[in-house]
Amino acid sequence: MLELRNLSFHYTRDPARQTIDRVSLDIHQGELVALLGPNGSGKSTLLQLAAGALRPQSGEVLVNQQPVASLTRREIARMMAIVTPGYEVRFPLTALEYVLTGRYAHVPAVGFDSQQDLAIARQSLRETDALQFAERRINQLSAGERQRVSLARALAQQPDWLLLDEPTANADLAHQISMLRLVREMANRQRIGALIVTHDLNLAAQFADRIMLLKEGRLVASGPPGEVLTTSVLSDIFNLPILIDQHPQSGRPRLFWESNS
Ligand code: ADP
Ligand code: MG
Repeated sequence: MLELRNLSFHYTRDPARQTIDRVSLDIHQGELVALLGPNGSGKSTLLQLAAGALRPQSGEVLVNQQPVASLTRREIARMMAIVTPGYEVRFPLTALEYVLTGRYAHVPAVGFDSQQDLAIARQSLRETDALQFAERRINQLSAGERQRVSLARALAQQPDWLLLDEPTANADLAHQISMLRLVREMANRQRIGALIVTHDLNLAAQFADRIMLLKEGRLVASGPPGEVLTTSVLSDIFNLPILIDQHPQSGRPRLFWESNS
């Protein structure tokens, strides 16, 4: 299990305001949880806390029963992979080289890639439909192409837990769906647990087992899409009148904004 226990966090620059305010949430193996909320509600901060990249001022994160605060970066990387949109490309690595950096947690010596690591990296690129970029430099890829390479790097880590920050934000419709299908399949088959930040309410409604809604650092609703995605909850959180009906095949909620507003 990945357990966030009563986390509170504020940035040092801004101690007067709790960016994350007493948030608890558990993610189980095989579960896909979508984290939704307006800009600035604390979603990315919560992901960084879950990954052990930020330390909460109170509360704790447990991954596979171990406090994240007690683990080394390498130990964490064997269990959790995080994909963030803000990755700055400092070195013009090729996509394959970049995905291979995801293997570092498993490789005994730095700078040595085994045939097995190469095979895993190439397979990960294939799974995200990015193998054709293997020899291209990642700073020369489009944002959507780079996102697929970033997801491939996370898969190459072979983690138990995937933390994805707006993984489909720049992807075309077909790739948005294929990326989420892939994570869904990994949850079903390999029992990976995933926490996915997204602004796409409809994608979240279709693919998530559970939806968490964050507002001003507080968790204001959590549950299955059919229970959480209601007109009153969403209109309150996004301050926008929202209409909801059902997907004709899955029966899951389908969301629209009001056309006269
Ligand atoms: P979200 O991902 O939901 O859009 P963030 O977690 O990125 O929100 O940010 C939550 C709040 O914390 C915002 O008000 C943002 O301005 C602030 N914030 C984010 N990063 C920092 C930082 N490094 N230092 C100070 N404040 C930050
Ligand atoms: Mg964010």
